[in-house]
Amino acid sequence: MTAAFLPFALPEIGDDEIAEVVDTLKSGWITTGPKAKRFEDDFAAFLGDSGLHCISVNSATAGLHLALEAIGIGPGDEVITTTHTFTATAEVVRYLGADVRLVDIDPVTLNVDPALVEAAITPRTKAIIPVHYGGLAADMPALMSIARRHGLKAVEDAAHALPTTCHGALVGTLASDATVFSFYANKTITTGEGGMLVTRDEALAQRAKVMRLHGINRDAFDRFTAKTPSWYYEIVAPGFKYNLTDIAAALGLHQLKKAHAFQRRRAEIAAQYHAAFTGLPLLPAPLAPQGELHAWHLYPVRLAAGAGLGRDAFIERLFAQGIGCSVHYIPLHLQPYWRERYQLQATDFPHSQHAYEQMASLPIYTRMTDADVARVVDAVKATLGA
Ligand SMILES: *Cc1c(COP(=O)(O)O)cnc(C)c1O
Repeated sequence: MTAAFLPFALPEIGDDEIAEVVDTLKSGWITTGPKAKRFEDDFAAFLGDSGLHCISVNSATAGLHLALEAIGIGPGDEVITTTHTFTATAEVVRYLGADVRLVDIDPVTLNVDPALVEAAITPRTKAIIPVHYGGLAADMPALMSIARRHGLKAVEDAAHALPTTCHGALVGTLASDATVFSFYANKTITTGEGGMLVTRDEALAQRAKVMRLHGINRDAFDRFTAKTPSWYYEIVAPGFKYNLTDIAAALGLHQLKKAHAFQRRRAEIAAQYHAAFTGLPLLPAPLAPQGELHAWHLYPVRLAAGAGLGRDAFIERLFAQGIGCSVHYIPLHLQPYWRERYQLQATDFPHSQHAYEQMASLPIYTRMTDADVARVVDAVKATLGA
């Protein structure tokens, strides 16, 4: 008997999420309204910092775009980020007519190398976008010290990082200008599609709220439910359509309550992989420093020289054993758009390039049973002839 295919990722949606969505559907208010507001309040409470503004959006991509727009990124500016990320991190810079400077990673953590960030700064550089790759915090103290020294803004791409800590503080509460989380279907909590822009900056928050919904100076829910009914509004800018629906927020309310339990399960799976892979010709995923939370959105392994097979064959052999894998990421410097626009060479990004050539992401999600984890371990061992 062959076991069913174990997919690379699956969301965990409970009866409470389903009941909340049904409640929303029956309530008469299905777009941005009371549940999106509650989700924002709950998110601020989750981060535990009363100085934060939490602005729900329909994707992390939207949140990154709004954050960069609000800090004034535009044509002629440069923004530095890692090549080892999803294209969304960088594409938002191009939406605003600014240019992207990609830099290489630290080969141990797979996060952006702060020294290379500093070396890439030019008179045009306005901001940096650190990514917490896989859910492991980037070196924020070093990056923020560089940002302060050079007068740069910092927007964290925290699409993988709920919950993640950096020196004991949750990502979202750190010293950057804004932090953006993703609730895409395969992220650590999900609303199907969705995101949250978090900032301490009052002006940034006000601008992002206006630009989230057409550049209107009051949001639709306020307008239609205010004590004094008001049909009047003003358009102050050509804004976007980036608001999160209450249907999506209904999912988020319950996902957020489970975020720490989800993280514990993911960390357990990561620990099982780590222990099982000791002694194999394979580099396990980098660990967080002792006492820090790693969100474990991803579990990327890298094949060692003695593995006896390449990454593509490794993924094919796991697939043949009923296990889904993926690759995070095909670095941006290899993608035609980025490569051609900035004349990039793989040799400019040796660590990202090397990691990419060796790496495969194994399944890591809360619905995996211990038997599923053991199945992945057995398949990896069989593939490596161990
Ligand atoms: C998923 C992801 C995004 C985009 O998130 P969406 O909510 O799908 O827009 C951005 N950056 C990284 C690193 C991601 O993995």
